[in-house]
Parts: sequence; C-alpha cells; structure tokens
Amino acid sequence: MSELGSVAAEIIACRACPRLVEWRERVAKEKVARFADQDYWGRPVPGFGDPAARVLILGLAPAAHGGNRTGRIFTGDRSGDFLYGSLHRCGLASQPTSTARDDGLRLRGVYVSAVNRCAPPGNRPTPQERDRCLPFLEREIAALEALRAIVALGAFAWDGALRALASLGHAVRPKPRFGHGAEASVGPYVLLGAFHPSQQNTFTGKLTPAMLDAVVERAIALVS
Ligand code: SF4
Repeated sequence: MSELGSVAAEIIACRACPRLVEWRERVAKEKVARFADQDYWGRPVPGFGDPAARVLILGLAPAAHGGNRTGRIFTGDRSGDFLYGSLHRCGLASQPTSTARDDGLRLRGVYVSAVNRCAPPGNRPTPQERDRCLPFLEREIAALEALRAIVALGAFAWDGALRALASLGHAVRPKPRFGHGAEASVGPYVLLGAFHPSQQNTFTGKLTPAMLDAVVERAIALVS
C-alpha cells in the first residue's frame, strides 16, 4: 500500500480523542432531519485527491453533517460546493460539486485535507486534539513528494500547517500572520492564506468565489 493509503487507513481507524469519538458517533446516530434516511460515516475523514499534487488545500476538520456524513472531506455541504466549485473553475477538479464518495469527482494536481480528521463540537478542536491529529497531516505532506504550495482555509488551518511544517523541520520565526491573500515561504513550500468557505463567510460576502479563485490561481502560478 502507498504511504498515503497507509495514512488514510490509520486515520479511519483512529479513536485517540475520546471527546471527538463520542461526538462524531453521536452525530452519526442522531443525524439531522434532512439526512435522516442516510447512513452516516461517523469516523475520521482522510485526505482526498491526486497523489502527485503540487497544491494542498487545508481545512479545519470535517463538518458534522458534511464529511462526517459522507466520509470525504468537504463533501456533502455548502462549504464543499464552494471549494470544489473554485477548484473546478481553476481546472483542478473534474466537476463543481461534491456530494458523495462515489459521485465521480476527480482532482488533478491538488490534494484536500484538514488539520483535525474528526468533526469537533462547535468546529473547535482543543489544542490537545489538534496536536494529537497533526502527525497524520505531517505524514501526508511528506508523502506528497511534488507538493510546493499549501492553501490554508482559515486561521486554524494556517496555524496547523505551520505546526506540521515545523515538525517536518521547516520552522519559521517570527510566525507569519494569517490573512486572506497572505503568503509565507516555509522551507520548500509556500503557504497561502484564504478565508474559510464557511457559510458565515460566504453568505455575508466576506469570501466571494472570485476571492477564493484568486488564491487558488496564485497557488497554481507559484507551482507551475
Ligand atoms: S481527531 Fe485525529 S487523533 Fe483525534 S480521534 Fe480523530 S483522527 Fe484520531
């Protein structure tokens, strides 16, 4: 099995955070009315995409009724459609929607992952839960041999990426500040910041499709 495949298998089997295991499984059992007839995944969610990726898109964690329901990151909710819509416009995704693990979506040159692999209550992992999960991200980054740019969606992902890269021997001081459009050189990588495509940001216009496209296009330009 490839290293990415091994990491994915270990992620899916992980039960290291008691609070998150309890939460992800409770959400999967109680469900939400509009998905009451569906079987939820209810387990940690591994990364997804092209093993030859030069660009990594990094989120916070699976959504309770998105990735935690479908088993694929950014899949089955509006944040995912916003993200994959952008990746499709930028030529990195085969389709603009992401609804289920078997929906036929294929990614080219990009990998999508998250700092924490279990849906957390209130979208807030504790620092201990973050640190416990980060080795999975470190292994994914190391396994993506062509990787050169990391797009962090939100400040939590920005911070998580910097921590993972520091563990891989690429510490930077002072710590670069997150912002939409921020860029920082970290070892052999460029870290780019973008606002997270949460409904809070997209409904209010804080993040527009054009804004996310611009960051993704910048990442593509940097690695081309
Ligand atoms: S958050 Fe990460 S470390 Fe914690 S149980 Fe889930 S997969 Fe394991």
